[in-house]
Amino acid sequence: MSRFHSHMQAALEHAALAAARGEVPVGAVIVAPDGRVVAAEGNRTRERADPTAHAEVLAIRAACAALGSERLPGHDLYVTLEPCPMCAAAIGFARIRRLYYGAADPKSGGVAQGARVFTHPQCHHAPEVYDGIAAPEAEALLREFFERLR
Ligand SMILES: [Zn+2]
Repeated sequence: MSRFHSHMQAALEHAALAAARGEVPVGAVIVAPDGRVVAAEGNRTRERADPTAHAEVLAIRAACAALGSERLPGHDLYVTLEPCPMCAAAIGFARIRRLYYGAADPKSGGVAQGARVFTHPQCHHAPEVYDGIAAPEAEALLREFFERLR
């Protein structure tokens, strides 16, 4: 298994854990320049009663706290779903080097559609973006979760 696929597998595991908590199944992992996983999180908006507690935001907060820095230069973020505009902005503020994501999100995504945060003229830092990584697995988790709600 290639390195980026194993990190996405870890993100998928955190997405599955989020689903088990009744949260929308999205997971995110941050990898330091030396290849260490420094944060792994899933959505916790219901648990924390916090609409900003998306997996990416929680992972960025944890990685920044561990590093003692408001920025994460050279760090890569893996997330199972296309980031929303809020998370894309946070990824830019954190100076994330590369963004790898799984499923596209036509409803709330802000990278390849919607707000397209990284191509906006006000965007001060855009990561390299790689989409569609393990997308079928991420989509299956989301589909199962929303089918159960019906
Ligand atoms: Zn988000």
